Amino acid sequence: MIAALPVLTPIVGVLGLALGSFLNVVVHRVPAGRSVVSPASACPRCQHAIRGVDNVPVISWFVLRGRCRDCALPIPVRYPLVEAATAVLFVVVVLGFQPRAQATSAELMGHGVLLLALLYLMAISVALALIDLDTHRLPNRIVLPAYPVLAVLLTGASAFTGDWVALLRGLVGAIGLGGAYLALALAVPRGMGLGDVKLAGVLGLVLAYLGWGPLAVGASAAFALGGTFGIVLLAVRRASRSTGIPFGPWMLLGAWVGAFAGAPLWDAYLRLSGLR
Ligand SMILES: [Zn+2]
Repeated sequence: MIAALPVLTPIVGVLGLALGSFLNVVVHRVPAGRSVVSPASACPRCQHAIRGVDNVPVISWFVLRGRCRDCALPIPVRYPLVEAATAVLFVVVVLGFQPRAQATSAELMGHGVLLLALLYLMAISVALALIDLDTHRLPNRIVLPAYPVLAVLLTGASAFTGDWVALLRGLVGAIGLGGAYLALALAVPRGMGLGDVKLAGVLGLVLAYLGWGPLAVGASAAFALGGTFGIVLLAVRRASRSTGIPFGPWMLLGAWVGAFAGAPLWDAYLRLSGLR
């Protein structure tokens, strides 16, 4: 795997660029209930279809100097930023999750399938975070398919590695975190929406599959990060207590903190608190 990284990393980076371009379409169209495949992208003002040569991730935006080729309507800088960020995040996933040295070929296969699951989760994380910021919604069209897609991929990973305990843990995590958010949503209906509950099940599945440490850290980091941000907003008077701040982006950011750093952080916490 280490030997494969010089080949794998640029491939995943290019895949991230292309997918980031598609995610821009998803973020733009899904909240409006429109198809993400047709019609082809067009300028919202002059309606000219975007030429293939002007649809190259990141590069085209610079070549066009951020304007429509036909009518010079400014193209938001968010588009190339999302493309570049998706590429970087994809590479970070591949570099951050590596199989153990001396992994058997079955373990390597299992790891490859796990990477697919994590890259898929990263792609929908980018889309969901942006849509929640834009519209305060987490669309079912993105959240609900994640259950079967991730269930199939994680089952596949376990079939290769033989680690069925991880899959069982994932199931417990999905029910546990989804249930905890459901209880929160019922207790504080204004604080938490059903979209958050459905997303919590998805995140619980993947985090617990990775381990109890990632689940514990991922779940608590969401509240730590979101809470800190809320307090800062209140302090600088950019928000009042009634301002609705979407929680989805914090759930997603917290989950990725848990996925990447949960195992060592959880170990350190247990050792410091004398539990281990
Ligand atoms: Zn135009």
